[in-house]
Amino acid sequence: MRSRYSAYCLKNIDYLIQTHHPTQRKSNSRKQITATANGVTWLGLTVVATRAGQPEDQTGVVEFVAVYQEGYQAAQLHERSRFCQEQGQWFYLDGEMLPPVRPNRNQPCWCYSGKPFKQCHGKKR
Ligand SMILES: [Zn+2]
Repeated sequence: MRSRYSAYCLKNIDYLIQTHHPTQRKSNSRKQITATANGVTWLGLTVVATRAGQPEDQTGVVEFVAVYQEGYQAAQLHERSRFCQEQGQWFYLDGEMLPPVRPNRNQPCWCYSGKPFKQCHGKKR
């Protein structure tokens, strides 16, 4: 999963397609992945939880928060991804989008601004 994140940062489209499970690839995958990789700047990745995904496992689940910048806006992708292993190779199967993570009011904001959440994205408008 981290290697896919790095690949997004480096815009390594071939790697992203190779590690996407063959049954899940769509004809427009390359276009979509390229658009995503080129359209945003990744700011950071936090792994929230993992389940299985060890060499002896067939499947793995990773919950993560990836923060990216699109234009002038920081945004977060909170996703639970499913992976499966076939002949020693891990593939991304699919992901379930989760609601955005909201830190406590006084905790640092998720966007890496360094400000407390309440003074940043947690500000009441
Ligand atoms: Zn913020």
